[in-house]
Amino acid sequence: MTNTLAATVPENTTNTARPKPVLSVEGLSTSFSVDGDWKNVVRDVSFDVMPGETVAIVGESGSGKSVTSLSIMRLLAKGTSRINGKIMLNGKDLLSLTDRQMRDVRGNDASMIFQEPMTSLNPIFTIGRQISEALTCHSNLSQADARAETIRLLEKVRIPNASSRFDEYPHQFSGGMRQRVMIAMALASRPKLLIADEPTTALDVTIQGQILDLIKVLQEEEGMAVLFITHDMGVVAEISDRTIVMYRGEAVESGPTDDIFHRGKHPYTRALLSAVP
Ligand code: ADP
Ligand code: MG
Repeated sequence: MTNTLAATVPENTTNTARPKPVLSVEGLSTSFSVDGDWKNVVRDVSFDVMPGETVAIVGESGSGKSVTSLSIMRLLAKGTSRINGKIMLNGKDLLSLTDRQMRDVRGNDASMIFQEPMTSLNPIFTIGRQISEALTCHSNLSQADARAETIRLLEKVRIPNASSRFDEYPHQFSGGMRQRVMIAMALASRPKLLIADEPTTALDVTIQGQILDLIKVLQEEEGMAVLFITHDMGVVAEISDRTIVMYRGEAVESGPTDDIFHRGKHPYTRALLSAVP
């Protein structure tokens, strides 16, 4: 539908500027040094994520989804990994940035959430302190303002009694609530892009649904783009506008999610689909 409409708009109208992708990945290849050899685990992966769009990367365990996202955020150990290709985020050429510039990118342009939020939260600091620090390192908020903003973020991710939970520690939260805290922390920098690597995989089905709904609502409210990584086609159907299917380190198929579901061609896509109840 959209394509037909776009094709009928004359080129010289005022609205010819095409939106730029928030994230553009071109020919990404990542290798690891294993026992003296370089093992290539992501091969020639290219895709764009447009502003406000949710793109899913789906594939079985070991297909290279996490390595793709960690390569984008440059979170792989330098000495033992090699990344090639071009990654543009918010107009920044990530593979040419210094480590310090890259830390700013991680704080400001994109945030990432992972499968197990416990590993990203510090067990010895309160939830309130960790979110406040994420806020104050990007702005010069006073402590009182940071506290108020932290509570607002906890409310935004629907944590009941947010203000009374400010001084609690990560272990006092359930898995689903911890994932909400991580999302609140990810929102602290008002990122243009949220990368979510299997954020619901460790949660039970009901909580999974709640977190997916929350991400959808927040995406609309914040206008963020989301790169959502999952092994679950059911989750893909639920959340994504476009889908990239990864198989053994390669993006074997990509397109609008509806097309992938109804007209997916690659044998591996069809195998994934046959597993959807
Ligand atoms: P998934 O799609 O499950 O997220 P990954 O991206 O984690 O898969 O892994 C892709 C492949 O890369 C796997 O074969 C994995 O064993 C390998 N791999 C991941 N991280 C490393 C590493 N640090 N060193 C060597 N091999 C790795
Ligand atoms: Mg993974």
